[in-house]
Amino acid sequence: MKFCPQCGADVHEASRFCSKCGLELSETDTDQSAAAVQTGARRQQGSAPTYVTIGWICCVISLVFIPVIFGAITVIMGYLTRKVDEQHGTILMIAGVAGAIFGMLLGAAVGGSYYY
Ligand SMILES: [Zn+2]
Repeated sequence: MKFCPQCGADVHEASRFCSKCGLELSETDTDQSAAAVQTGARRQQGSAPTYVTIGWICCVISLVFIPVIFGAITVIMGYLTRKVDEQHGTILMIAGVAGAIFGMLLGAAVGGSYYY
């Protein structure tokens, strides 16, 4: 007997899908946790690849260009991502705030060196 990594229900050894939540179960039992994480991540990325992509692009842009605006977009994309992938969304929101702060510091450093 094994357990569904998503809902924790008992699943039959031979069944490929969880009878309770319908999650596709990995066929290998050996690396169960890693496989479960990968399956889950792939499933979730499939539903929100755009938010994640836009979020990370804006995070990078915020480091060099208008950090407040692109940092805010990153946070918004992170918020939208949280609806499908809470962990990744939270990371993206933190990255957005961090990107905005670092972008402002970099901007201040570049602006400072410009004046001196
Ligand atoms: Zn399940």
